[in-house]
Amino acid sequence: MQDAIVIGGGFYGSMIALYLMKVRGFKTVTLIEREAVLLNRASYNNQARVHNGYHYPRSFTTAFRSRVNLPRFVKDYPDAVVRNFTKLYAIARNNSKVTAKQFERFCHEIGAQLESAPPAMMKLFEPRLIDSVYLTQEYAFNSRQLAGEAKRELDDAGVEVLLETRVKSIHQRGHDALSVIYAHGGEETERVTRYVFNCTYSGLNQFTGDFPGTRTKLKHELTEMALVDMPDELKELGVTVMDGPFFSMMPFPARELHTLSHVRYTPHMQWNDEPDQDPYERLESYDRATRVDRMIRDVARYMAPVAKVKYVDSLFEVKTILVKNEGDDGRPILFEQHPQLPHCYSVLGGKIDNIFDVLEKLDAEPIH
Ligand SMILES: Cc1cc2nc3c(=O)[nH]c(=O)nc-3n(C[C@H](O)[C@H](O)[C@H](O)COP(=O)(O)OP(=O)(O)OC[C@H]3O[C@@H](n4cnc5c(N)ncnc54)[C@H](O)[C@@H]3O)c2cc1C
Repeated sequence: MQDAIVIGGGFYGSMIALYLMKVRGFKTVTLIEREAVLLNRASYNNQARVHNGYHYPRSFTTAFRSRVNLPRFVKDYPDAVVRNFTKLYAIARNNSKVTAKQFERFCHEIGAQLESAPPAMMKLFEPRLIDSVYLTQEYAFNSRQLAGEAKRELDDAGVEVLLETRVKSIHQRGHDALSVIYAHGGEETERVTRYVFNCTYSGLNQFTGDFPGTRTKLKHELTEMALVDMPDELKELGVTVMDGPFFSMMPFPARELHTLSHVRYTPHMQWNDEPDQDPYERLESYDRATRVDRMIRDVARYMAPVAKVKYVDSLFEVKTILVKNEGDDGRPILFEQHPQLPHCYSVLGGKIDNIFDVLEKLDAEPIH
């Protein structure tokens, strides 16, 4: 019987597999991923923002945890962190859930650096629609670099990695053993293990067998982020307009492009999590008609140079959040040990750097 099976080779599953080997002294850990490479789903298809709190004026805890976790992420993955751009946050005059004064007070409370943008940058924005523009300190990450580093670390630590392999069910086997049944190339195999870590993000509740499902309710959004080539005057910038039906533009280092997302157009559809509705299949069968024209048209009202962006491609992905955070946009972790299957844990991180919150939780668990 092996020590642990980690299901899901995104950033979370990879980091947890490494933690079990390197920190908890497990000897036999297998990481199972349905894609052909690691970190190919949400850990690649995201906005690449290393959050530093600014994005969460309605959720103090998430903002505060971002402030704590950013320096850790930068320390552990310096080569994946990209800082060579200027990050602006702007407050809209109308329909904003936060005023400039509230935003300033909030940044002060969480200790995040904030100063007024210089006039040359203010000029990029339409003053009738934008109230204030701030220089902030926020970074991007290169998800391909992160994937490369994760792969190297897993190899060095001796974690067995099974790719193109999908776990279908989880079962209790006797008192303190579990088994998983997985499919690879049309063949099904059963493996017995002492622990299972379910790190499958959108697929968290898609297992049969004895897996009871998470108690925390989940919601899925089918999202589109446009990948664009910015005109020269915007190439060195990231911009986020807060907080309402606005937009974000962030460098996407893995493709040397920018992502463009819009609160109104990025989510194409949303639904509540159901065990028999596989979110990956739903995305697979979706027609993926881009909404980039609508995004650009609206964003160019606020920043005229955006009309000149060149559309390259879109990243479509399922974004999974906790139902309880619909209103405040908070991104806490889900960390559940299932009472019916005590050696099985389910984990979901709302942001890439929340991994440190998960590892802290694991530190407190009596696993050995
Ligand atoms: C559109 C979007 C924008 C985002 N923007 C940001 C951002 O700017 N900054 C930030 O910090 N976070 C952002 N996030 C959140 C961030 O991407 C996630 O928190 C993080 O990637 C989650 O990592 P993960 O390993 O849990 O998920 P994933 O990377 O999705 O890994 C889960 C893995 O499980 C695999 N899997 C699923 N089911 C099975 C199965 N049955 N058998 C085997 N393998 C399986 C999947 O193929 C996948 O590789 C964004 C997310 C999205 C979708």
